[in-house]
Amino acid sequence: MSPQKNYKIAVLAGDGIGPEVMTEVKKVLAAVSKKFFLDFELKESLVGGAAIDAIGEPLPTATLKACEESDAILFGSVGGENWNSLPPEKRPEVGALLPLRKHFDLFANIRPAGISPILKNSSPLKPEIIGNGFHFTVVRELTGDVYFGEKKLEKDFGSDLMIYKKNEVERIARVAFELARNSRQKVTNVDKANVLATSQFWRSIVEEIHAKEFPEIELEHLYIDNATMQLLTRPADFDVILAGNLFGDILSDEAAQISGSIGMQASASINSKKFGLYEPMGGSAPSIAGKGIANPIAQIGSAAMMLEISFGETEAASAIEDAIQKTLEGGLLTADIFTDSAGEQKVSTSEMGDSIIKNILK
Ligand code: NAD
Repeated sequence: MSPQKNYKIAVLAGDGIGPEVMTEVKKVLAAVSKKFFLDFELKESLVGGAAIDAIGEPLPTATLKACEESDAILFGSVGGENWNSLPPEKRPEVGALLPLRKHFDLFANIRPAGISPILKNSSPLKPEIIGNGFHFTVVRELTGDVYFGEKKLEKDFGSDLMIYKKNEVERIARVAFELARNSRQKVTNVDKANVLATSQFWRSIVEEIHAKEFPEIELEHLYIDNATMQLLTRPADFDVILAGNLFGDILSDEAAQISGSIGMQASASINSKKFGLYEPMGGSAPSIAGKGIANPIAQIGSAAMMLEISFGETEAASAIEDAIQKTLEGGLLTADIFTDSAGEQKVSTSEMGDSIIKNILK
């Protein structure tokens, strides 16, 4: 028998629904550990508002150390009313997440989007557009673009420099092509190369990486304005969408919106060593916190992404994804996706987690 593989995971549950949905992830990881002979060493640490209350800062040194000593970070969500009066840099969202992204150079944001036919009522798209469902992944560059170029705010003008360096485009392009290699072999690059020099440069580097390293992958280009329309009319045609920080920001939110509830949306932010921070797209959802009704699927899906991307445990990751699908197809739905249609049963956070675990262990 091969030796049991050991993975260290920093678990930062945070605020609001964070701890509730993280409880379900811990149960899921225990089931996966049993089934696939994997050993997960979880290091639970304070972050966000919970860390401010206990220690006075949103990202305590001990938490950062626990992350440094781990193979991946599982992040819940942070923020809430109690901390809104603090200056922005001391608030849970800015004071915890941004420093973590910077510290670990998490330049690639990966957001799967999609919907299976069973959830078609929770998407704003028409059923005929959803058809048999769709699934694609948005890869957004996180560390460059207008967000980080030189900024000027004067009396009579304001400007933000849009800039990308060669190595920044190369590394994000590789992430997208590699994902496509393990998916449906297609990358759609989104830019504004008809107007912006930055986009012309970006596109030329994407084409260079494609020709040299991934010629077998299909590559198409869309301008951002066209891409936002195409996503609404033919979502099933996309596999991996590659975009810079600004256009990726817009596209990933649009993708989340057409995919139904935010409670289903997982995400990953990774660096070039495939170390990553895995978190749900949504926030701490204070209005439903403590009620046992939050959808744990975004957090569980984030753990599946961690197994696949950071640990290369593809089989275990697929087992979680399949178990989520089976649970949904069985009609078990949390309040955010429940539509009271025939065959549906409204379940709590823990019932959803239990059903996913049952399907993993089957
Ligand atoms: P939110 O994502 O917390 O909530 C938006 C809506 O989605 C609410 O109706 C909420 O109930 C629902 N929702 C979110 N996750 C859900 C889940 N798992 N199951 C069922 N429903 C879910 O966004 P918001 O209300 O704008 O922000 C609340 C707090 O979270 C704020 O303090 C905000 O700054 C913070 N926030 C944190 C992160 C993060 O930690 N990465 C991200 C976004 C917002």
